[in-house]
Amino acid sequence: MRVLFNDLNSLHDTIKDELTQSLSRVINSGIFLRGPEVKYFEENFASHADSRFCVSCANGTDSLYIAMRSLGVGPGDEVIVPSHSWISTSETVSQAGARVVFCDITSDTYTIDPSLIEEKVTQNTVGIIPVHLYGHPADMDSICKIADKYKLWVLEDCAQSHQADINGKRVGNFGVAGSFSFYPGKNLGAFGDAGCVVTSSRELADDMARFARHGGLTKGEHLIEGINSRMDEIQACVLNTKLPHLSSWTDLRIRAASIYNNELLGIDKITLPTVLPGFKHVWHLYVVLAEHRDELMEYLFKNGVETNINYPISLPFLPAYSRYAFQPYDFPVSFNHSKNVLSLPMHPLISSQDIKHVSNLIRHFYQTRSI
Ligand SMILES: *Cc1c(COP(=O)(O)O)cnc(C)c1O
Repeated sequence: MRVLFNDLNSLHDTIKDELTQSLSRVINSGIFLRGPEVKYFEENFASHADSRFCVSCANGTDSLYIAMRSLGVGPGDEVIVPSHSWISTSETVSQAGARVVFCDITSDTYTIDPSLIEEKVTQNTVGIIPVHLYGHPADMDSICKIADKYKLWVLEDCAQSHQADINGKRVGNFGVAGSFSFYPGKNLGAFGDAGCVVTSSRELADDMARFARHGGLTKGEHLIEGINSRMDEIQACVLNTKLPHLSSWTDLRIRAASIYNNELLGIDKITLPTVLPGFKHVWHLYVVLAEHRDELMEYLFKNGVETNINYPISLPFLPAYSRYAFQPYDFPVSFNHSKNVLSLPMHPLISSQDIKHVSNLIRHFYQTRSI
């Protein structure tokens, strides 16, 4: 029995006719950039995210960069980011010319630890980028309180958290803007790269759109020097076709997570994911902390189960940041976390049999290992 980590083919099979029809509409239109699909997506996704404006762009890394450049980030500034995330969260701070300041994560949800943020704030701090990691929202109330106190902006990295919320308020709306990725494997994925930023500020939306489109909102206008970061019509069409299905796909992820929680209960070498009360976790990844993680991963792989490590090295300890010479005790929670994290197969169509199979293998691994 093989259990895939993700299964995009099966997911696309369930909407194959819709996809084929809408994509052939784009092909026949002959419009591949700056067309109706992108316009429709921006309107649709803004309202879907309970926001006012959506600026589409080429990927979920550009979206962070575009937002920061439009917020005026530049040399001399400092931006606080969690020490455990995908590198986009930190590398875009440096791209914008600012200094990246890492902050450790909490040991329950693995998102930025608000109780450690204040000690990182200096006169040069301009903003905070919380990441709703694995699909669990960061503690936005506490983060926004600190941001208000020091007059900092908050840019949410929502790349793993489409449709996540806190007490019914969707992520992307707590700070000044929310950045999304539509990388194929994300909870809402394109057939290539795509991303966007949502915001309720018209001024920021205009600034971001201008920056992402060579400095002008209309063709030929170049008020500033910008960049070229566009979502194309094919990607927008795929996203428009998929968006109406996202709620039910999210429900299926939530159901899969609860089956895992039941099946893995009582294995004391495994720490199950935590969901804080009032927080909606959308399970981009189902991540456990596992003792003897690498051995377990190998055992699962040999038995046909694909797993992943997100992420094997926390950001401060990557070679890219060796200039700071950080030590494990600088970010102890994320350092230990990265040694034990294991992402189990998770996608909307994973069956309860698959989940039971994976869970039984894990139980068996620890039982036989200790003999
Ligand atoms: C995927 C991801 C991104 C970047 O998205 P791309 O579309 O691949 O550029 C940014 N931040 C986080 C936390 C991500 O998981």
